[in-house]
Amino acid sequence: MSDYEFIDHSYDVIVVGAGGAGLRATFGLAQAGFATACITKVFPTRSHTVAAQGGISAALGNMGQDDWRWHMYDTIKGGDWLGDQDAIEYMCKEAPDAVIELEHYGVPFSRTEDGRIYQRPFGGMTTHYGEGTAQRTCAAADRTGHAMLHTLYQQSLKHEAEFYIEYFAIDLIMDEQGACRGVVAIDLATGRLHRFRSHQVILATGGYGRAFFSCTSAHTCTGDGNAMVLRAGLPLQDMEFVQFHPTGIYGAGMLITEGVRGEGGYLTNSDGERFMERYAPNAKDLASRDVVSRAMTIEIREGRGVGAEKDHIHLHLEHLGPEVIEERLPGIAESSRIFAAVDVAREPIPVLPTVHYNMGGIPANYNGEVVHSKDGDPEAVVPGLMAVGEAACVSVHGANRLGSNSLLDLVVFGRAAAHHCSETLQPGARHQNLPADAGDNSVARLDALRNAKGSRKTSEIRLEMQKIMQNHAAVFRTGDTLAEGVEMLQQTFSSFDDVQVSDRSMIWNTDLIETMELENLLLNATATINSAANRTESRGAHAREDYPDRDDVNWMKHTSSFVDGPGAVRFEYRPVHEQTLTDEVEAVPPKARVY
Ligand SMILES: Cc1cc2nc3c(=O)[nH]c(=O)nc-3n(C[C@H](O)[C@H](O)[C@H](O)COP(=O)(O)OP(=O)(O)OC[C@H]3O[C@@H](n4cnc5c(N)ncnc54)[C@H](O)[C@@H]3O)c2cc1C
Repeated sequence: MSDYEFIDHSYDVIVVGAGGAGLRATFGLAQAGFATACITKVFPTRSHTVAAQGGISAALGNMGQDDWRWHMYDTIKGGDWLGDQDAIEYMCKEAPDAVIELEHYGVPFSRTEDGRIYQRPFGGMTTHYGEGTAQRTCAAADRTGHAMLHTLYQQSLKHEAEFYIEYFAIDLIMDEQGACRGVVAIDLATGRLHRFRSHQVILATGGYGRAFFSCTSAHTCTGDGNAMVLRAGLPLQDMEFVQFHPTGIYGAGMLITEGVRGEGGYLTNSDGERFMERYAPNAKDLASRDVVSRAMTIEIREGRGVGAEKDHIHLHLEHLGPEVIEERLPGIAESSRIFAAVDVAREPIPVLPTVHYNMGGIPANYNGEVVHSKDGDPEAVVPGLMAVGEAACVSVHGANRLGSNSLLDLVVFGRAAAHHCSETLQPGARHQNLPADAGDNSVARLDALRNAKGSRKTSEIRLEMQKIMQNHAAVFRTGDTLAEGVEMLQQTFSSFDDVQVSDRSMIWNTDLIETMELENLLLNATATINSAANRTESRGAHAREDYPDRDDVNWMKHTSSFVDGPGAVRFEYRPVHEQTLTDEVEAVPPKARVY
């Protein structure tokens, strides 16, 4: 394949990913007159965002008093003071406009009696700086992501963005000065390689939940964009922070939205006790996700789990009545019937904490520009490269994301990226030549993998990695289990040299693509478990039993991790932004995080 010919394209901007974040950026760019192409490995409306159930947060105040400053306070506290306060201010202040915009574009939100957008309570969302319960999460029944994704795709088509569907992006094209000049992708149907040249590449490739054995994420969530960044010699940020959602269906991993508890659902142990009252006397079942997941894990460990093996917890919504279930939670009733054989109007749902969201990712500022440390500047912009959505770490979610803040992050920062391009680029500006070796690294990798005749199947290595991550980077972590996990993962990653790809073809070679996704997952997993082993404190979703307290003196900082291969990991750290963006609001100083 060494004499391989590329099919070349030039655009003003290339977006990789057609989930909520990628589509919001894509149509904003096309609307602003940029020649915009969106590359996606799955059909846009099959992107993982389609699965988002509960809703999108914004202090609209439709169901009672609300204020974006309270939303900002909740987000900072929810993230256990690791979030950058200037970026959080930006997101929460922009939220009402971003949601009203979505409504005008056509998202069919559920309605109040007087026709306004319906809003439900969600974990960690309060009024008056922690005093009351906010109804802040705007919902389209329990299919909010589905509604958003379809609307954003329609808007992108309306503004004539071009789509490269079922194209798998492999690598960034970087020049000698460290600027990004484009991206290489393979057309899955024909096996042809394409080189896309652009002034900006926006990575919107989503999370990497599939690095774990039990997760709520789609099979496509393999952290490809994150791995492309690592391969370009750039770091990922805060990868140790992985959110476990309290209510994955036991045995299946399917998500039961927090919106269920927002509508009045509650958890019980084997004594029938509503145990969250002991762990979070005020917020109870609506405490933040890390708090509820830890409480459930403690109940199970102390012998109060339900079921024959006392290894899960019950979630009740029987008392809500069939009308509320039918109107507000129809998808939940369906998922519970299919995946747990439970009629939610009569019996509780068996649930267990399950990997759900990656707070870490590609370091980016609130304009969407990717940053890294260079020449003494801890946040130097990487020219030509941006990141948005779950792939990015802005960081607005800090050490733990609040439910319904991700859909918000997608639209606010997808939009911000489009705005920033409008302010800094001219549509149709002349392109520089690509580096002479552009794409050679991708060809070499593809060639090596296509001819991989080792003894280990892709599925075997993947399962081994997933079990290591599930057992060693779990809800509770210790130095010993993490160290053991680091060692085991290094061996598993090394065994990738012995991988076997059964099909040499370039056309619809799913074995080859799954193997490339596995390589990407291994890079993400390595960054995660090593960053977790290094952080000797407990903060948000990172709970160390050997370091149970938050340590603001030594650890109020973001982790930057570089991974060059198995065991080849190094770290840098940069301070958290404790200052606000404007003087419209005061910074929130760190304090104990109780609910
Ligand atoms: C079950 C579930 C329910 C959720 N509910 C909510 C909720 O109610 N509210 C909320 O705020 N958050 C929710 N979340 C979180 C939220 O849905 C996700 O964080 C968000 O949808 C991620 O969107 P994204 O645009 O970043 O990525 P995705 O939607 O994952 O899209 C990624 C895109 O990148 C493309 N891609 C990836 N790799 C490549 C590659 N190599 N080449 C080409 N294309 C590529 C894919 O094709 C896809 O189009 C939920 C998550 C889960 C798992």
